[in-house]
Amino acid sequence: MFKGLLTDKAGGSYATKLTQLDEAQLPDGDVTVRVAYSTLNYKDALAITGRFPVVRHFPMVPGIDLVGAVEDSGSPKFKRGDLVLVNGFGIGDVHWGGLAERARLKSDWLIPLPKAFTPRQAMAIGTAGYTAMLCVMALEHNGVTPDKGEVLVTGAAGGVGSIAIALLHKLGYAVVASTGRAAEADYLKGLGAREVIDRAKLSSPGEPLQKERWAGAIDSVGSHTLANVLAAMRYGGAAAACGLAQGLDLPGSVAPFILRGVTLAGIDSVYRPMPDRLEAWRRLSSDLDTRRLDSLTHQIGLDETIGYASKILEGAVRGRLVVAIDPG
Ligand code: NAP
Repeated sequence: MFKGLLTDKAGGSYATKLTQLDEAQLPDGDVTVRVAYSTLNYKDALAITGRFPVVRHFPMVPGIDLVGAVEDSGSPKFKRGDLVLVNGFGIGDVHWGGLAERARLKSDWLIPLPKAFTPRQAMAIGTAGYTAMLCVMALEHNGVTPDKGEVLVTGAAGGVGSIAIALLHKLGYAVVASTGRAAEADYLKGLGAREVIDRAKLSSPGEPLQKERWAGAIDSVGSHTLANVLAAMRYGGAAAACGLAQGLDLPGSVAPFILRGVTLAGIDSVYRPMPDRLEAWRRLSSDLDTRRLDSLTHQIGLDETIGYASKILEGAVRGRLVVAIDPG
């Protein structure tokens, strides 16, 4: 038996509880992992609370990220004792995920733990940090170099936002952070933001074309915020969109695309092909300052995750939450 979170919808009532699970209940897979750490991302909070229907099969062990040691392997690629991590691939929504002491997974989903990081640091990065890296890579791919001008990061004090700021700063970009939490201005400047702006300036309907300001943008907020960001992109600029913290809608116009040649790059981390994942983790190994990473990380226990899920959805969590499961 092992401990884990279980989300179920039995009798129509959605609930998540910490419970004892049986190894025989684990889903199919060729590798079993003893989970050392997981994380709590925005999507995990949606899964745990049921606020948005991200869980596709019930009962489900939530947790879209995990790191741990291989306990049992039917794959020639991994052997007992290897340290591995997984981000996405449907764990936590269609396949039992990381918020439990054991996980059974497909070996095709596993990445060897990069040497640059401890297991805890890998989960401090987690899906949020790996997605922030994919966003930075999308800006680079679209020609946004540090000399082009300011890069805006929305949802700045959240997980994706915090790591995006740290990465962009280290790469030499002039970063502007948009937040609803004025009290976090020093924290955001400590990560590398040159300026902090109030997200209220971006969150209401705006003109389809606004004064050109941003050479690039990383947006984890969506809705009016993303529409306003696009409307204020400089000629030829690019924005990477990965989130929906304000909303799933995009109430804007095509004006920035057809009059300023702006690019909107969509970022999905969940089913991103393995070569891109390996490249993102290689880049994180070289471009993320681990002291900054440690400064934005807070550790909690498995028994605290349900309470913290509500806090994430209230926008009351700063940076990244690591869940210690069986650190050994
Ligand atoms: P998080 O830590 O909860 O951060 C979200 C941040 O968004 C909050 O800290 C807050 O920042 C801001 N925010 C919250 N509610 C808002 C509102 N109503 N209006 C404007 N801003 C608001 O979450 P996360 O893990 O960084 O994830 C951020 C988003 O990216 C989520 O929507 C998540 O689902 C998405 N995501 C997508 C992918 C992908 O594969 N596409 C991967 C990872 C994450 P401030 O307090 O600083 O304003």
